[in-house]
Amino acid sequence: MDTGRQQNAETLLELTDAGIVQLDGSGIVVLMNRRAEELLKVPRSEVLGKRVDMLPLRTPIYRVLSENSGDTPVEMSIDGAILLVRSAMVPLVGGCGEFFELRDVTADKKEKRDREEFVAMMTHDLKSPLTVIMGYVQALLGEVPDKIDPSLQVFIKEMDKSSKKMLAMIEDVLDAYRLEAGLLQIDRQPCNVQALLEGCCNDGAREAVVHGSAFSAELSGEVPPLYLDGKQIARVFANLIGNAVKFTPRRGAIRVSSGVQQDYLVVEVADTGIGIPPEELPRIFNKYFRASGAQGFKGTGLGLTISKAIVEAHGGSIGVESAAGKGTRFSVFLPLERR
Ligand code: ADP
Repeated sequence: MDTGRQQNAETLLELTDAGIVQLDGSGIVVLMNRRAEELLKVPRSEVLGKRVDMLPLRTPIYRVLSENSGDTPVEMSIDGAILLVRSAMVPLVGGCGEFFELRDVTADKKEKRDREEFVAMMTHDLKSPLTVIMGYVQALLGEVPDKIDPSLQVFIKEMDKSSKKMLAMIEDVLDAYRLEAGLLQIDRQPCNVQALLEGCCNDGAREAVVHGSAFSAELSGEVPPLYLDGKQIARVFANLIGNAVKFTPRRGAIRVSSGVQQDYLVVEVADTGIGIPPEELPRIFNKYFRASGAQGFKGTGLGLTISKAIVEAHGGSIGVESAAGKGTRFSVFLPLERR
């Protein structure tokens, strides 16, 4: 590069908003721009020409440069700021060099957290009036039948169903927030998983009748009582079964099965529904993600995110196989811990 162009490149490097640090092939710091000095709170005169392992341990620069983030950016907390660190090996004249790019994402993170807190607060406030409405609907449902016109009873039942759905959606939004904030609580107790599964299947079978699909359950009787949060695990099964019913057009089939494989309880929920295209399958557990085929079906895109978090909090895992237009199968693995 001629000197003019090199000078321009150096000026640009100084002006850019990203911190840049370069190591040569033997791990010596050979370049550091102004922004990197600011972000890592160290003058470059103190580090240029030194090998990473000669830098004082626990200093921001040592922490960042000893982190091999590769293609996946890593978030690091440095003196109250959150830095996104990306590194790449780059072939250079006379060998290979490693570049580190640092970005300060503290403000973005705070804005995201503020937004989520606002949504959580709003949702929480919506819950109180809804609970009051549900209380009155329950009271009406409990009235002696001849006091209420039969045609009105149908409306009341519909109001009951819709308000329950709305409450479930509110709970999902709140749990998604709790999950992000590390506040989702798992309260493990000895639990009769067999009875819990049967309950979820009975609910699923009723929903399937309404949707005009066939429902079958093949539950192994050999599942021992497990030590887990029954309420949360029931939510996982209810969500998977609910999705199977929802995403399966009329005359389809939903099948739930359970059994013990080595040290795991395995529960499978399979359907012959719309399926998920292969390119969308890897994103299916992401927060708010809904596949292209889900347009026209009600939902928040949070159920699977929460289900996965609940199962993983129990030391288990959840997997999915699907073929677009043919059907989907979710498998839940829960360790047979009886402690
Ligand atoms: P929601 O059902 O509220 O949209 P979920 O997190 O439960 O949210 O599911 C996320 C997305 O995954 C759904 O919108 C849908 O695109 C896809 N999905 C989940 N279960 C199935 C299923 N059994 N068949 C087809 N698609 C499914």
